[in-house]
Amino acid sequence: MRRISIFGATGSIGQNTIDLIARAPADYEVVALTGASNIAVLAGDAIRLRAKVAVTAHPHLLEDLRAALAGSGVEAAAGPAAIAEAASRPADWVMSAIVGAAGLVPGLAALEVGATLALANKESLVCAGGLMLGAAKRHGATILPVDSEHSAVFQALSGEDIQTIERIIITASGGAFRDWPLAKLRHATPAQAASHPNWDMGQRITIDSASMFNKAMEVIETREFFGVSPKQIEVLVHPESLVHALVGFQDGALMAHVGPPDMRHAIGYALHWPRRAALPVERLDLARVGALSFRAPDEQRWPALRIAREVMAAGGLNGAVFNAAKETALDGFIAGQIGFTVMADVVEQTLTEAQGQVETRMTLDNVAQADHLARNIARQIIQKRAG
Ligand code: NDP
Ligand code: MG
Repeated sequence: MRRISIFGATGSIGQNTIDLIARAPADYEVVALTGASNIAVLAGDAIRLRAKVAVTAHPHLLEDLRAALAGSGVEAAAGPAAIAEAASRPADWVMSAIVGAAGLVPGLAALEVGATLALANKESLVCAGGLMLGAAKRHGATILPVDSEHSAVFQALSGEDIQTIERIIITASGGAFRDWPLAKLRHATPAQAASHPNWDMGQRITIDSASMFNKAMEVIETREFFGVSPKQIEVLVHPESLVHALVGFQDGALMAHVGPPDMRHAIGYALHWPRRAALPVERLDLARVGALSFRAPDEQRWPALRIAREVMAAGGLNGAVFNAAKETALDGFIAGQIGFTVMADVVEQTLTEAQGQVETRMTLDNVAQADHLARNIARQIIQKRAG
C-alpha cells in the first residue's frame, strides 16, 4: 500500500489523479486531499477514498466541510497552515496540483518529509526552483514532472547521459488565438481565451495557453528541472498537441515523445515511475492523424516568450516577481479590468518597477516578499490602466 496525498484534489489535475487511483483503491492509502471552494467534491472524494484528512484553503468554509464529512471519520481542516500541515504528514507519493504560488509551501513541506513529489504546480519551480531542488536534495526526495512537456522530456531522457543533450524543444498548441489576426487580440474576452483547442484544463492555465504565459513558465520550468541553459531551450508551435517535447542530442538525434492530449498519461507515468503501467488513455492512430505540423512561435503575438528569456537572464527572484505579476494580470483580465494584450504589459512593467526592490538571496521569506511586492505593483498598474 502506498501512502498518497493530493494537493489541489478538486481541480483538473487533481480529478484526473483521483480517476487513476480510484481504479485501484486497494493499492493506495490516501493521507490528505485538499481543495479550496469546491467542498462537495472535496468531501465526496475524501469519503470515497477513505482519506485521513480533507483540507480546504478557505477558513470560512470549514463548517461546510465539517458538515459534509459528518459521520465519515475523515478529519476536516482549513487554511493555508492546515494545508502545509497536511503536506508534512508522511506520504510516499504526493501530487502537487494547487494552482498558483500557493502550491509552493505545501510542495516544500512534502519534500521535507522525503515524499516523491509529482509536480504539476509549475509556479513553485518558477518562483523558487532553487528552494525546491535544494529541499529535494537535502531530504533525499524525488521530484517527478507532471506537466506534459516535462514528463515527455523526462521520458525521452530515460537511460541517456544528460551531458549529451544539445537542446530541449517543448511544443505549444498556440491556444485559442493561434490563428487570430493580431489586431483582434486586444478585444479577446476571457470566455474566448478559456476555450482550448486540444486540452481540457483549469480556466487559468487555459487562458495562460492563449497568451503563451503558460509556455513562458514552462521554459523556466525546463531550465530548473533539467539544468540546461536558456539558449538550449526552444519552443515550437505544434497545433496537433501530440508531440509534447523533443530532446536533441549531440549526435544529431531528436527523441520525440508522442502521446494523446490526456493528462492522465503524464500523471500515470509519475504515479507508476519507474515502471510503466497500463493507462486508460487513447491509443493514437497516426495514420488517421495523417500529418504533424510545426512552426516557429511569433514573438509579436506572444511577447510572454521574450519576457521569460529576460527573466532567466536576470535570475535571482525575478521568477517570483514574474509569476506573481502574471497571476495578478490574469486576475485583472478575468475580472474585465484589462484587455488580453495588456497582461504582458503589466508583467513587463512590474518586472521593471520591482527591480532593485527585491532581495537577491533565495529564501522562502524573500520569495514571499517578492511575490507580495509584485502583486502590489501589478495591481497599481492595472488600476491605472483600468481607470
Ligand atoms: P484548477 O484550477 O483546475 O485546480 C486548482 C486546484 O487548486 C483546485 O483544487 C483548487 O480548489 C485549488 N486551489 C485554488 N486556489 C487555491 C489556494 N489559494 N490554496 C490552495 N488550493 C487552491 O487547476 P489545474 O488542475 O488546471 O492546474 C493545477 C496546476 O497544475 C497548475 O499549477 C497548472 O499550471 C498545472 N498544470 C495543469 C495542467 C492541466 O491539464 N490542467 C497541465 C499541466 C500543468 P477548488 O477548485 O476547490 O477551488
Ligand atoms: Mg504543459
